[in-house]
Amino acid sequence: MFKEFLNARYLAWHILIALALSIVVAAVLIWADLSDEDLTTVTNWIGIPGTLFINALKMVVIPLVFAAIAVGVAGMASQKSFGRIGSKTIALYLFTGFIAIFTGLVLVNVIQPGNMQIESAQALVDSIEGTDASDMAARVEGRSWWDLVQIIVRAVPPNIFDALTNNSGLLAIIFVAVVFGFFTTKLTGVVRETIDNLWQGMYDVTIAVTLWIIRFAPIGVFALVTVVLVNTGFAAFKPLAWFVVTVLAALILHFFVWLPLMQVFLARVNPFKYYGKVAKAQLTAFSTASSSATLPVTIESAQDAGVSKRVSSFVLPLGATVNMDGTALYECVVVIFIAQISAVVSGIEFTIADQLLVVLLALVTSIGVAGVPAASLVAITLILGVLELPAEWLGIIIAVDRILDMCRTSTNVTSDLTIAAIVARSEGEELPEVRAA
Ligand code: ASP
Repeated sequence: MFKEFLNARYLAWHILIALALSIVVAAVLIWADLSDEDLTTVTNWIGIPGTLFINALKMVVIPLVFAAIAVGVAGMASQKSFGRIGSKTIALYLFTGFIAIFTGLVLVNVIQPGNMQIESAQALVDSIEGTDASDMAARVEGRSWWDLVQIIVRAVPPNIFDALTNNSGLLAIIFVAVVFGFFTTKLTGVVRETIDNLWQGMYDVTIAVTLWIIRFAPIGVFALVTVVLVNTGFAAFKPLAWFVVTVLAALILHFFVWLPLMQVFLARVNPFKYYGKVAKAQLTAFSTASSSATLPVTIESAQDAGVSKRVSSFVLPLGATVNMDGTALYECVVVIFIAQISAVVSGIEFTIADQLLVVLLALVTSIGVAGVPAASLVAITLILGVLELPAEWLGIIIAVDRILDMCRTSTNVTSDLTIAAIVARSEGEELPEVRAA
C-alpha cells in the first residue's frame, strides 16, 4: 500500500505533504530563534535542492517550448485551424484578464486596505526607509510602461540563436517555433519526413527529461517554500494584514470561483477532476513563483488531463508569457492600495478616471511581464510613475510580496490551463477523464 502511494500517480499528494512539512520546519526554525548567521547557513543548505529543481526546469523550458510548438504547428491540418485556435486563445486571455482585474478592483475598493489612520499610513511609508525599494525606483528610472509594450516588438528576434539562449524572452522563441513549424508543412518527401522527425524527436526527449525532473518536485518544493517562509517570517504580515486579505480574497475568487465556472460552462469539464489532474502544475507554480519555470510541468499535466499536444503546446507556452491573471489583478490592487495610502497622507484623492487607467495599464503590462519571480514589481513601479505616485512606496509591500507572488503565479498557471481546456473542447477534444458528467 505504501509502495503504491509512492507511485508518480500520487505526485500531487507527495508535493502537498512536502508543503506541509516545509511549514512545520519553517515554524521550528523561526521558533528556535537562531542567530542571523546560523539561520542563513541553514537556509543556504536547505535551499540547494530548490535551486537545483528550478535550474533543471529552466533547462528544459527552451527546447520544450521550441519543439512542442514546432510539432504542434506542423501538425495543424491547415493555416485556418492555426488562425482559429490562435484567435480563440487570445480572446480568452483578454477575457480572463479583465475578469481578474475587475475582481481586484472591486475588492480593493470595497475593503479599502489603504484607508487607515494617518499615523499607521505614515508608519508604513516610513518603514521603507533603508529598504531596497528606492533601488527598485532607480532600476526603472527613465523607463516607461511603453517599454513593456515593446516586448511585443521584441517578439520578432533579429537573431535566432540569441533568441534561443534567452530564458526570459519566450515570446521570441515562440515566434521562431511557430514560423519553423508552419514552414515545415510546405516541405515534401524525405526532407519533410526528416524535419518532422527532428522536431518530434526533440519533443519526445525533452518530455522524457521533464517527467524525470518532475519526480523531484516534492524535494524541490519543500526546499523552496521552507526558505521563503523562514525569510519572510510572520511579523511582516501584521501591518499589511488588510492588504494581504484583499489580494488573497481576490485571487481565491478567481482561482476557486471564476476559473472553475469557466471550466464548467465553457469547457464542460469537471473542475474537481481537472484541478486534480493539474495540481502538480499549480503547486510547482506556487513554490517556484515562476510561470516560465513551471511550464514543463504545466504542459505535462494538461496532457495528462487529456488535452492534445496540438492545443497544449500552443496555448500553454504563449499563456505562460502573456496570460497572467493573478499578476494583472495584483498590479491593480497594489497600485490602488498605494493610492489610498497616498490619499490618507496627502489628501489627494484618486479619481475614477485614474482607476480606469490602472485597469488598462495592468492588463497591458501584465502581458509584457516575464514569468519570473517578482516580475510584476517592475510593472507596478512603472504604473506608479505614470500616475505620479511615489514609486519607492512599493517598498511598503515588498516584505510580503514573495508569498503573494507564489499565490498569483499559481493563479496565472491555472488560468492558462483553464483556457487550454476550453480551446481543446471547442476543437472537439473529448477529455474523457475530466469531462463533466
Ligand atoms: N511570478 C509571476 C509569474 O511568473 C509574475 C509576477 O507576477 O511577478 O507568473
